[in-house]
Amino acid sequence: MIREFDIAVIGAGIAGASVAAHLAASHRTVICEMEERPGYHTTGRSAAMYEPNYGPPPILALTRASRVHFDEAGLLTPRETIFFMPEHQQQSFDRLMTVQQGMSEISPATAAGKFPFLREGYAKRAVLDPGTADIDVDRLHQAYLRLFRGRGGELLCDHPVIALEPGDSWTIRTRTEELRARIVVNAAGAWGDKVAEMAGCNAIGLQPKRRSIAVLPGPEETNVMAWPMVGDVGETWYCKPQSGKLLVSPADATPVDPHDAYADDLTLAEGIARFEEASTLEVSRVERSWGGLRSFAPDGNPVVGYDASADGFFWLIGQGGYGIQSSPALSRLAAAMVRGEAPPADILDQGLLLEDISPARFSRVAS
Ligand SMILES: Cc1cc2nc3c(=O)[nH]c(=O)nc-3n(C[C@H](O)[C@H](O)[C@H](O)COP(=O)(O)OP(=O)(O)OC[C@H]3O[C@@H](n4cnc5c(N)ncnc54)[C@H](O)[C@@H]3O)c2cc1C
Repeated sequence: MIREFDIAVIGAGIAGASVAAHLAASHRTVICEMEERPGYHTTGRSAAMYEPNYGPPPILALTRASRVHFDEAGLLTPRETIFFMPEHQQQSFDRLMTVQQGMSEISPATAAGKFPFLREGYAKRAVLDPGTADIDVDRLHQAYLRLFRGRGGELLCDHPVIALEPGDSWTIRTRTEELRARIVVNAAGAWGDKVAEMAGCNAIGLQPKRRSIAVLPGPEETNVMAWPMVGDVGETWYCKPQSGKLLVSPADATPVDPHDAYADDLTLAEGIARFEEASTLEVSRVERSWGGLRSFAPDGNPVVGYDASADGFFWLIGQGGYGIQSSPALSRLAAAMVRGEAPPADILDQGLLLEDISPARFSRVAS
């Protein structure tokens, strides 16, 4: 039997789960997820930070418009961020200071008061963002999936989509069954271009980039959870307290094909060495590590909207390293666009320009 839906969402990461939760209020919606559980890929591997000064302009607007949802749902725990400017990073410092809202320069001595292991002489300047926070990613993701199911949505795990055929409705072939839906939402993360090609659309040049994280024990008898997140303004490393440990990332962005990502040991070692240049903490062992794929369109902006050439094919990919912090607003916006409704005014008020995220910007380049 071929089951019929109004909308099929491909991918149950944060993008697919959040947009599907909104759409299920008005449409018979199914999510097809290739893994045995949702959130297995990038969504389950993030650093879980809310940073309203991090990302390209559309992301800044979406992240700032997401704040109200995070606050109302109690999903944020405040954690300041300090960016250090070591030698040779003046340009990155100046760039950050031109786009930031609410950040202020502090002296390296004040920074050392908040991050006591700062190595003397490393930071020429420092800047504090008091508006950043830890996100409870699992609660956010699970809440969207609960809302989706509560609205009658169906989540099909272990259902890799292997073919998409256009017609009056899309025929969606998974490994085990065939479905029909008028609209397909491509929320396949790193696999976004592969799914688009299955539907006969032009790929947009999505590039997954690997980022690795090492989990280190904190120093004895120190409450690391009171520390800020710290990193350099040039984004060559960062360190974030989590569950009493320290997450240290080399802030790598290595282009790779979509796959089940893992940390690269050499890259991790180089990143830890940069962390040790900045701090007096001695790294004696890495407890565990992981890698994840941050996927970017060629201009670094997300890709959101209907494809011009394939009727009923909607793009929701390219959230890069900011897909969690922007998901509450991005999913509201995407759901409105899928339904053909006006974009929410509060999101546009943050300065979002729809042409900056439209898939049409790539066909314009091609023609
Ligand atoms: C190390 C690291 C740190 C990060 N830190 C932050 C942070 O602090 N804050 C922040 O906001 N963001 C952060 N990010 C980015 C954030 O995690 C991503 O932007 C976000 O998770 C992307 O969500 P997604 O749903 O698009 O992708 P995914 O979570 O990868 O979901 C896509 C899903 O599609 C499924 N899929 C693919 N192809 C098919 C198919 N053919 N059929 C069925 N299913 C399919 C996959 O199995 C997958 O579950 C970080 C990322 C990394 C790697």
